[in-house]
Formats: sequence, structure tokens, C-alpha cells
Amino acid sequence: MRQTEWIAIASAGNDFKNFAGFTEREQDGLHRAGEILREGGLVAFPTETVYGLGGDALNPDSSRRIYAAKGRPSDNPLIVHIADRGDLSCIASGIPEEAEKLAEAFWPGPLTMILHKSDAVPPETTGGLDTVAVRMPSHPVALAVIREGGGFVAAPSANTSGKPSPTLASHVAEDMGGRIDMIIDGGALGIGLESTIVDLTVSPPRILRPGYITREMLEQVLGHVEVDVTILQSQAECGQAPKAPGMKYRHYAPAGELTVVCGEPETVVEYINCRADEDQRAGHRVGVIGTEEMLGRYRADLIKSVGSRADKKAIAAGLYAILREFDREGATKIYSEAFSGDGLGQAIMNRLLKAAGHRVIDLRALQEGGENDSNRK
Ligand code: AMP
Ligand code: MG
Repeated sequence: MRQTEWIAIASAGNDFKNFAGFTEREQDGLHRAGEILREGGLVAFPTETVYGLGGDALNPDSSRRIYAAKGRPSDNPLIVHIADRGDLSCIASGIPEEAEKLAEAFWPGPLTMILHKSDAVPPETTGGLDTVAVRMPSHPVALAVIREGGGFVAAPSANTSGKPSPTLASHVAEDMGGRIDMIIDGGALGIGLESTIVDLTVSPPRILRPGYITREMLEQVLGHVEVDVTILQSQAECGQAPKAPGMKYRHYAPAGELTVVCGEPETVVEYINCRADEDQRAGHRVGVIGTEEMLGRYRADLIKSVGSRADKKAIAAGLYAILREFDREGATKIYSEAFSGDGLGQAIMNRLLKAAGHRVIDLRALQEGGENDSNRK
């Protein structure tokens, strides 16, 4: 156990355009965070997506410490965060024109690019790969921490490997308290899902993880962009391992058994109520993740609204916090409505499917194809 320092930096909020600057006390805290990073320590800090667990990306010992603190398999590479676009050429080589175009359009922001790495990046940071994942975040606290820490900060999500990513500093404390040197509390984060990852070492570019920057937005800049099939299908379904090594692991998962139910809203409610009754009779504590529109219709022990179906941004921002609430409240079975696979809906559905270990009930397929309830466990 080590002492985890805690500082709060509230002045940035989530409205970065109107950010007026840090207070003197906050600046001292950021300076201290930089010191820790430059000495090889670990600092959790807010970004616009989820809380990151930062370490010096060019220091192999720091990367090893990140893997140890998270319990993360060491073949699951880290994203290197920069604060200035000019720094990209220090860590990537043979940078294609597409990368410049994407940086121009979406940086600083929730987009990670996979590029060939330079010799400056140790293999410990890239899980032994000769490519590197790079992102320039837009959160003023993240940018300041990166600059203070030397310019190159490896920062996976600040959760224990496999658990839902943290969108509040209290989530970071639950998982990382006593294991890292500092937590910077920046309040509830705006986006709530990890960055979009696009691989630019292949042609055409390929989305390895969907996020707030959607395929449609990328295609406006690059023309055709492919989507890795493993984003919405399990390895068993498509016969392929995900190209982002981390996406092959069970992820974002609550402790209870989560099942995603697809179909018309009415039949979804009916089905979930029926399963919830059965599970309760068997002694389970049953949770439901529903949209505002359907919420009053469910019967279960814990019924949580993930927001209005019309507001995908709010659903993205609230999803992980809800999964963690079910853990705290002891849900042993959880059912969730499904979301459409386009735009931000694709990112939400991707995280839900991973959280559920691809345990999906598709009521449309059941109705069309008779009893084909193969995923039911
Ligand atoms: P996290 O750090 O938790 O946001 O996860 C980072 C994700 O980026 C993981 O799924 C990694 O597998 C993926 N990633 C990082 N570096 C690379 C790379 N060089 N090639 C492909 N995927 C990568
Ligand atoms: Mg993660």
C-alpha cells in the first residue's frame, strides 16, 4: 500500500471553450503531478473521455507499474497521450497524410491513431508491438498534466482491468486507492466512453474501437473507413481476434451477469420482466438498465435509467457509472435494453456487448427463427 495524494481541480469543468485558467493552488497540484510522473510514479487524471492512469510513456518502469496497478495483461498496449501536435513526430515514424488530416480535424479530442512507432517508445509501452497508439486529449487538466510530466504520458483507463472505466474520481479511488501516487478529481466527465481508435497503418484506415468520433465523422475527412468486424461480434461469431489487442479481453464488466436484450421495446420489456421474475424466484437480485421512455414498465429489484433513447450522448456519459452502481448494490443478474449500431449508438452497443461477454438475446431472431436461444446461459 502506498499513500495516494488527492487533489481536486474543478475550474476546468466540462466546458473547455470557456475555461479561464487554473487557480494558483491548482497549478501547484499540477506541478506536483508532473514531478511524480517524471520520477516514474503514477497519477490518475481526468480527460474528456474517462479517467486515465498516467505514467511516463518513455520510461519502461512506469509502463510496468501501470500494468501492475491495473492488473492488466502486458500484451495489451497503452495509448500515449501528447499535449502538442508537434510532439507526434517524436514517437511515431512514417506519419501518413491521413494522420495530419485527422489531427487537424479532431485533435485535441477523443481520437486515438495507430501509427508506426519511433525508437523513443519502449516496447513495454506498446505491448511489444512496433506500432504506437497516440492521442491528444482536449481536457485542460489532461493537457497540463502531460506537459508537466514531460510531454508523453501513457494513460489507460484508471480502472482495475476488466471493470467498467471510471467516469468519477470516486471510481478511480475504489480501484486504485493505495496503489498509485496521486488522483486528480475533475468531477464527472463529459463523454464517458473511451476514445475512438483508428488504425492508420492499414489501407483503408480501420476503426478498432468505436467512440465519440463516429465512422461518419472520420469518413468526412478520409473518405472510406473500414470497421473491424469484432466491434459488434464476438470472436466466436466472426472467427477473428480483434486487431486492438485489448479488445479481446472481457471488459467494462459488472460483477453481476449482464444480458443485452434486442427487439421491439414492448417485447423487450415483456421478456426482461419474465426473466426477472424467474431469477428472483431463484434468489437473485435483479437489475435492469432501461431508457427513460420504458422505465415505468419494468419489474425488478434495481431499475436504473440510462437516459432518454433520444439522447445518446447522455447514455454514453452515464453507462459506466450505472454498471458500477449495480456492483455496489449487489445485483447478481442484470438486463439491458440494446442500442442501434450507428453513430454513437455503435460505441454504446460495443461497450455493452463487451460488458455482457456477448451474452445477447435477440428477440427478433427468436421470433423469425423459432426457438434459437443459443446464447441463453
Ligand atoms: P485503454 O488504455 O484501456 O483505453 O485501452 C487502449 C486500447 O488501445 C486497447 O484496446 C489496446 O489494445 C489498444 N491499442 C493500444 N495500442 C495499440 C496498437 N499499437 N495497436 C492496436 N491497438 C492498440
Ligand atoms: Mg480501459
